Amino acid sequence: MFITLIKLDGNIGPSYSRDKRKKAMDSIILIFPPQFEPFQPYLSLPVLTAILKSRGYSVDVYDFNIDYFNWVFSPNYIEQSLRNFDKKENGRDKFIIERGKYALLHLSEAIQVLKTQKAFVNLPKYKWAMNVLRTALEVVSERFKPSKIDFYEARCGSTNFNSFRIYNAINNSHLNLFEEFIEDFVIPIFQKNAPDFIGFSLVIHDQLAFTLTLCREIRRHFPKIHLCAGGPLVSRLGQEMAVSRHISQFFDSFVIGNGEETICELVDALETGTDPTKIHGVLVPGRQDKFKSRLSENSLSTILPDFSCLPLEKYFSPYLVLPYLTSHGCYWRKCTFCCHRYPYGKYREKPIEIVVNQLAKLSEDYKTKYFSFSDEGIPPKRMRDLALEIINRNLNIKWFTFARMEKAFKEPDFCNLIYHAGCRTLMFGLESAIQRVLDLMEKGTEVANVPKILSACKKASISVRLDAMIGFPTESEEESDYTLKFIRRHRDLIDTPFSIIPLSIFELQRDSPIMKNPGKYGVYPKEPLRGDLDYQFRYDIQNGMDYSKKVKAYKKYISILNSEFNGPSICPENKTHAFIMKCLHDERLISADSFSKIKEKLNGYVPVLYQGIQCRPPNTCNGNVHRYFLFNLLNGMEVEINSLCKKVIDLIKNCYTLKEMLACFEREHGFLSNNFKASFWAFLKFLFQNDFIYFVHSILRQKEDSFFDNQEFLISTKEITSCKKEGYMSREFETGGPNDKSNFGKIS
Ligand code: SF4
Repeated sequence: MFITLIKLDGNIGPSYSRDKRKKAMDSIILIFPPQFEPFQPYLSLPVLTAILKSRGYSVDVYDFNIDYFNWVFSPNYIEQSLRNFDKKENGRDKFIIERGKYALLHLSEAIQVLKTQKAFVNLPKYKWAMNVLRTALEVVSERFKPSKIDFYEARCGSTNFNSFRIYNAINNSHLNLFEEFIEDFVIPIFQKNAPDFIGFSLVIHDQLAFTLTLCREIRRHFPKIHLCAGGPLVSRLGQEMAVSRHISQFFDSFVIGNGEETICELVDALETGTDPTKIHGVLVPGRQDKFKSRLSENSLSTILPDFSCLPLEKYFSPYLVLPYLTSHGCYWRKCTFCCHRYPYGKYREKPIEIVVNQLAKLSEDYKTKYFSFSDEGIPPKRMRDLALEIINRNLNIKWFTFARMEKAFKEPDFCNLIYHAGCRTLMFGLESAIQRVLDLMEKGTEVANVPKILSACKKASISVRLDAMIGFPTESEEESDYTLKFIRRHRDLIDTPFSIIPLSIFELQRDSPIMKNPGKYGVYPKEPLRGDLDYQFRYDIQNGMDYSKKVKAYKKYISILNSEFNGPSICPENKTHAFIMKCLHDERLISADSFSKIKEKLNGYVPVLYQGIQCRPPNTCNGNVHRYFLFNLLNGMEVEINSLCKKVIDLIKNCYTLKEMLACFEREHGFLSNNFKASFWAFLKFLFQNDFIYFVHSILRQKEDSFFDNQEFLISTKEITSCKKEGYMSREFETGGPNDKSNFGKIS
């Protein structure tokens, strides 16, 4: 029997034989592997699922990334991980056990904080919850070290960029983070219902270790299943993966470029027994040296993504944020450092009417108004059309997107329009405040427009994410410093609630225009930086900052931004939570006031210790009774403090306002010198920036104390153990000697 399918975008799809299909490709499984941020679903599987289903295939989808995080955050698994430290005696392990036990006790509460709006809007509580879960991940990392897992990174062994080393690491049970999960959780799923075809969607290197481990196990248990990898990572590294025997042995095919049409053709070919190597964009290891480049440039699917295939309740956010793509590729395509556009081919747009229809449908079907647009950037004219259509349709949605700093954003009316259509955050690439550097980057933007754009965004209440880059080839230290000065000078326009300035150091990327003409930039490329799977390259440079200067500048700028801007304290690192908080802030459900500048809190604010902070008495063994240790169980930080700092901690425990604290010191020490006051503020700032304290208005102090009862964490008898987080173990608080009572120490 032959059937003809009508695709949702109106085109007529090809005909298929169902009888044949049942024999060859009866069931397909698509997998999104860990590790990736677990705060919202990723778009690739819902799109592929919709397309395959529209062609009559039976598809099951597994976001093993979210399943893995939920599995790791189970008390059983953390308990089991902690048992691995039982026999070890050194201080570091003791501290990890202590921290792990704390996390274990609070895991379910922390997860609830991230998932329920009422708790999520309490910023200190949100930070505490994220830190509890991070601590649980640190315990797991310690167990498998040097392997590592956190919300933003995972690796088995020491690298994700060298196929030989990844292969060795996944075959070493002491290093493989994922083996137990695969054995206990994943394989039983396949045992119940083994598919004919498994497709992996790989976006970043951090997903490789899990994928290879799972493929190894599938090869062992179910050797007939066809294993295929695709996604942006494979689009860029397919060739390298296909020639590396450590990788290629696990796969039957790779899909390079946009996979929507290619995966259908591949499955059809497998079903009908035709040669898959003839398909553009398909690479079969051992049978092709090169894939035929296609990148599906003419076919941007307008199909509605099918999110029903995902466990939407499992993501760690209080509201569901759905990813959506209004266009494919970048409409600018010129920035000389950029390789983002490479995997996506030329720029293609979905008609605005279809976009808004689909947003309305998704909003209704999944009961959410929150969307993250995954476009590389939406041109202003198109953004205006989109906004007008959303407003005309009276569609109540909120969204954020990447955009270029184009003139249109200078217009307050334009920014107001898009705000009313639901735009809450714009993510801009500022990169540099030097026009010469921007021109060399071919950014196509003008520094002169930046303040006006920021001002229009601020007036419209749109928050910004302003990416800046340090060390573009030929950029001097002075030029780089100027960008920082520019940012500081416009602090009032930039540092709005839930705005942030992520900094990065220039990377020489394969497939970027610079790599094609390095001489023009005085760049001399060498080998891939970290291994055969890296697309970042080592290089020498003729003019500009060398690597050590870039790193030094980076650290200096981060430290300045952290201390002068409110954003780093207020805004969550991940875009999903930052966006939700911005939306809730605009609905007056979140106040960021208690996270703004410390000195502004002199009137009536109370510093509060986070739960999980311990102030331990001096180690009497060394006879020094004037040293205390402040531990942060949640970020592993240990600080040695003097008796004066200890006094501050005691006053914090007794709910003193900042003004009352200074008055108390004045009573004890008489006149307080400027140095004394500077040290006092610096100590408080240190505590605040490193998540030891947060602030509440004094009228709320009783209420907050009931959330975070600090007293139970004051431990008085335990031997001091040490876990010194790199770069943070501070001798800065040591002062002039055991009798020193007037100085907080050299706090920079
Ligand atoms: S940096 Fe952004 S605007 Fe520039 S080419 Fe890349 S994706 Fe396009």
